Parts: sequence; C-alpha cells; structure tokens
Amino acid sequence: MSRIAIIGAGMAGLSAAYDLTRAGHQVVIYEALPQTGGIASGFKAPHWDWSLEKFYHHWFQSDRHMMGLIEELGWRGDVLFPRPYTVVYIDGRFQPLDSIPEAAKFTLKHFPIWDVARFSLVGLYLRLTPWWQPLERTTADAWMRKWVGARVYNALWRPLLVGKFGEENLNVVNMAWLWARLKTRTTRLGTFVGGFQAFFDRFAAVIEERGGDIRLNTRVQQIRRTQEETRGRWAVVTEAGTETFDAVISTSSPHAMAEMTPDLPESYTAKLRALKSMGAVVMIASLKHKLTDYYWHNLPKEAGFPYLAMVEHTNFIPPEHYGGDHIIYMGDYLPQDHPYLDMRQEELEAIFIPALARFNPDFRPDWVKAVWLFRTRYAQPIPPVNHSQNIPPLRTPLPGLYFASMSQVYPWDRGTNFAVEIGRRVARELMEDLHPS
Ligand SMILES: Cc1cc2nc3c(=O)[nH]c(=O)nc-3n(C[C@H](O)[C@H](O)[C@H](O)COP(=O)(O)OP(=O)(O)OC[C@H]3O[C@@H](n4cnc5c(N)ncnc54)[C@H](O)[C@@H]3O)c2cc1C
Repeated sequence: MSRIAIIGAGMAGLSAAYDLTRAGHQVVIYEALPQTGGIASGFKAPHWDWSLEKFYHHWFQSDRHMMGLIEELGWRGDVLFPRPYTVVYIDGRFQPLDSIPEAAKFTLKHFPIWDVARFSLVGLYLRLTPWWQPLERTTADAWMRKWVGARVYNALWRPLLVGKFGEENLNVVNMAWLWARLKTRTTRLGTFVGGFQAFFDRFAAVIEERGGDIRLNTRVQQIRRTQEETRGRWAVVTEAGTETFDAVISTSSPHAMAEMTPDLPESYTAKLRALKSMGAVVMIASLKHKLTDYYWHNLPKEAGFPYLAMVEHTNFIPPEHYGGDHIIYMGDYLPQDHPYLDMRQEELEAIFIPALARFNPDFRPDWVKAVWLFRTRYAQPIPPVNHSQNIPPLRTPLPGLYFASMSQVYPWDRGTNFAVEIGRRVARELMEDLHPS
C-alpha cells in the first residue's frame, strides 16, 4: 500500500482517487475550494431542491467514460437525458440548428445547392473519419474555409471559432479541435438528479468510505522532493504543515503546476507554460418569469450581444427544482487579460442584464431576483497547429510526480468525460510504476 497525494477534487482528481483507493492505496486529496467538483461544481440557494452548476454543464450521450463510471457506481438511474433546444442568432432571428434535418433546412433556404452539398459532405466526413492527425496540421479557419466554402464558413463556423477563441486565435486553433467537437456532440443532453454537485457529493462519499481523506479549503502551496527516503519521496506543503507521500498527482492548471513545483526541470515547465487557455465569465440570474422557449442561445460576436451564450437552464431542468425560479446563464470565453475577468459584479450586471430584453421584449429589470458571478482564468485550452507534439506527458520527468489536466485530453476538447478518462489513466500509470510486474 502506498501513500498518495492528489491535488484537486475536480472530476480528474476524484476519478484518480476512486481507482487508487479501490486498489487499497492510502489517498489524501487536497482541494483549495470549500467543495468538490472543481469547474463543474454547483451551489444552491436556500429555497432550491437541486444545486446549480456555477458554469453551465451537461453531458452528451457519447460521454462513454463518464457514463461508464456512473454505470460502475450503479447510478445510471439517476442520469436524465432530456432534449433541450439550441438556437443560433442569424439574420436578426433565433434559428434552430442543432440537428441534421434543421441544419439541412436552414442551409437549403440560405445557400446555393452546391454549398449545401459541400456542407453536408464535410459534416459527414468529419463525423465518420477517425483520423484527426492530418487535421491538426492546419487551422480550423483555413480547413473549413477551403472545404465548406467562404459563404457557409462565414455564416456558421467562423462565429463559433471567434466566439470560443477570439479573432486573435483564428490563425492558431487547429482543425482537430473542431473535428473532436463534431464527433462528440449529441442533441440529447444529460444531467444528474439533484444537479452535478449531487453527483460529486455522492462520489466523494464513496471515496471516503474506502478510506480516501478529502481535505477541503486546503490549498497546496508547494510540492517538493524530500530526502527522507524512509518516510516518502514527496512533500506536500499547505498552510497546515508539510506531509510526505510516495507519489503525488496534480490536477491543477498547468500554470499553477509550474509555479508550485520548483524541482521540475525547465524542459517540462516550459511545456506547461506554453499551454495557453481562454478564461470564462458566467453570470447567473434567477428570474420571476420565463424568458424564452429555448435552452441554449448561441450569439455571434458581430450581433452585438455582450456575451457568447445565453442559456435558459430551466428550459432544460424544470423550474420546480429551483423553487419556481427561472434560471439563466450569460457566459463568455475571454482572453486572460480581459477586463470582464476583474470588473466588479455591479459593473458587469450593468452590461449584461439589459441585453436580456433582446431575447424577450417584455423583460424588465425587476424580473431579476438574484445574480451570481463566477469567473475562471483556466476555462478553455487553446490547441494550436501540431499540438500533439506539445502535450506534456502525465508522468513528469521526476519519478513519483504526475500531472493530469484538461490541457492534456487533446485531441478531445475539455469536458468532465475526458477528466474521468485522464484521472483514471494517471492512476493506472502511477500503479504500473509502483508495481512494474
Ligand atoms: C464555462 C464552462 C463550461 C463547461 N461545460 C461543460 C459541459 O457542459 N460538460 C462537461 O462535461 N464539461 C464542461 N466543462 C469542462 C469541465 O468543467 C472540465 O473539463 C472538468 O471539470 C475539468 O476537471 P478537472 O478535474 O480536470 O479540473 P478542475 O475541475 O479545474 O479541478 C481542479 C481542482 O484543483 C483544485 N486546485 C487547483 N490548484 C490547487 C492547489 N494548489 N491546492 C489545492 N487545490 C487546487 C481546484 O480548486 C479545482 O477544484 C466546462 C467548463 C467551462 C469553463
């Protein structure tokens, strides 16, 4: 039995802890926040039955690692897959575009038949091909422009890329990112009864029953090698003191990993620091009335909305679970130095809330009952051309030290499904190293 420290009680850290405790290892999980779940965690107003994700979250039916884990836990009956509706703001209207028949209807109406044929063939090719490697050699912007043609690209794909990564990254993001996105999306979207936080609380309880020690509100300040071979090879430093372990897994952001681990060689920290990501801001408002009939509203930047997406959560999960409140998210992905990431909540409310009248002319500011604001600088990894050569391995160059983050799930885009996969993979690699036989 080995003593193992895990930094982070998000989906990756918990998944690693689940397999390590099951194999009989003694695991301590350090989590800086007051709850488990990381970016996918939730919160609850006093009159709500269900928790609400701080950043909008759902599962896809293709999330096989997540669903496989839930199956193993025997909780499949607690996963719901409603069919909420997604619309895109095009030509001054919200257009449903989230299924093949709807997309076909829309393109037939707006583009020449030759464009529609190219659009359909490209869509089919990307859904079917398993070979993403040639696609990472070019940008999504260049590849799509070439194969679907400028008209369809500019109307449908460019706004998606600009929304996620900004104009400045159009000549950076590779085509494998778009391939992965199209490959994994389904129209039915899933959640857990009680919200994602209910899942995390139950999952954490299983790990604790097996002896896992989850320490919330405990930020790790430093991970360093110790010379005391008999008491473990790694020291984890927190405000409460220093403890030693046989191995450490960090699931923090790459930047935080580079900062807190001074023993890492420059060759590895340079790789960590080279991983770039977008930040995210999400404002949540509970309203007295229903705003729209749709769940997800995609808002192209040029349409002048102050955010990229408006998500009416209670068109996915009924308002009864939130004491009758109608819940909306207003969210955007932003460069790390964007003023929205530091602005005071009142200032952001003054920018975000008035735009709700564009979704429903009856909207009045007095519909708003409460507002919450969540932000993170590490939200969306940016995958440049030939990115597969830049991914730092889960085994760091220092024996016994591992790193697993959403920047390493490439070619897949980040998601709790891939956090399960990488968390279980890093646990497997660690156990192989402990018991090479
Ligand atoms: C806006 C937005 C929307 C998203 N939508 C979806 C979605 O619909 N579906 C989906 O599946 N995924 C979605 N994701 C992605 C998903 O949230 C992540 O891929 C996943 O949660 C990552 O899990 P993780 O464990 O790798 O990292 P995290 O969740 O970031 O967990 C890392 C944990 O480490 C802790 N930590 C970091 N440093 C330290 C330290 N020094 N000491 C102690 N603790 C530390 C952090 O507090 C955090 O809890 C979304 C993400 C964003 C930003």
